[in-house]
Amino acid sequence: MSQIKGLAAHAAGAELLPFRYDPGDLGAREVEISISHCGICHSDLHLISNDWGLSQYPFVPGHEIIGTVEATGDEVHALPAGTRVGVGWQSNSCGECEWCSRGMENLCAQMEATCIRRHGGYAERVRANARFVFPIPDALNSEQAAPLLCGGITVYNPLRTHGVNPSSRVGVVGIGGLGHMAIQFARVFGAEVTAFSTSSEKEQEARLLGAHHFVNVRESRALKEVAGSLDFILSTADASQEWSVYVQALRPTGTLCFVGVPPSPVTVQAFPMIAGMRSVTGSPIGSPAMIREMLDVAARHGVKAITQCFPMGSVNDALTRVKKNKVRYRAVLAN
Ligand code: NAP
Ligand code: ZN
Repeated sequence: MSQIKGLAAHAAGAELLPFRYDPGDLGAREVEISISHCGICHSDLHLISNDWGLSQYPFVPGHEIIGTVEATGDEVHALPAGTRVGVGWQSNSCGECEWCSRGMENLCAQMEATCIRRHGGYAERVRANARFVFPIPDALNSEQAAPLLCGGITVYNPLRTHGVNPSSRVGVVGIGGLGHMAIQFARVFGAEVTAFSTSSEKEQEARLLGAHHFVNVRESRALKEVAGSLDFILSTADASQEWSVYVQALRPTGTLCFVGVPPSPVTVQAFPMIAGMRSVTGSPIGSPAMIREMLDVAARHGVKAITQCFPMGSVNDALTRVKKNKVRYRAVLAN
């Protein structure tokens, strides 16, 4: 196989520069994909700046990938060349542990991430194990589908597994890439949705996406007014906040679920959890079965990312805009 051209950070926080690497022989269960689009997830920014201590340089980010199958290993039969496919955060798992056997491969201790210790989707091609390569329904266009592969599944999975339904009152904290898709999926599940945002100018769009209510979290009184009103709050914000206020916004037995990664430890008071049997939890991406289901639901119910497209070569410009919370609502790189 020929070398793969991508865009890599060579040190923590550095600008991305053109980079080539040799992918070696294609594994028997691997698929090589020619990339058309790759979304910019905020996790890429965390990895570029090594916020989580997991990054190795040079490092090609990117894990919201859409493209076409270019080559397959000898043991891959279901993905013919030319099939339009997607790859998300996870590109392999052990396939044998308790969690893989239960269809919860996203909890596998041996899980491999598409752009940790391997090179990701800000590139012309990428590889993944065939179990983590998903055909894309015809109804989804590639630019709008790319963000579903990480952002979309990350919000779909907890809404689905926590049983959100027409009786549910759901809050979504942070209306960015993940948050704007969470509003749409919560509406598909029939919930009453409240958007919590630091950006008052997002109110109209949040309502168009399906939010019934909008809370500007910079107004502390507005936050206190929703006390005791929500069953499930999904936090997608990547910044620290006063989390106790969100626990107090829950009804008895309600759940505050983190998918966004704040930089500081989450501090909450025990008493509201004890008195109202409220819980605080988290959720990582979703299993391959859940990703297939989410793509089907998105295609049938018209859930799509609102995107701003950038040529792959303008990646640094796009990353700066994401960092400044200027993108509405997902930046997508196109080859
Ligand atoms: P994003 O597009 O940048 O959106 C994050 C949103 O957080 C912003 O749009 C903003 O919404 C809000 N925010 C920003 N600064 C804030 C502040 N100072 N206080 C409160 N809210 C603030 O990011 P994303 O791609 O959606 O990713 C969000 C987080 O999820 C990241 O931490 C990412 O690493 C994580 N993530 C986790 C998983 C997982 O499996 N759990 C998967 C993917 C991503 P408003 O303008 O509405 O306030
Ligand atoms: Zn992501």
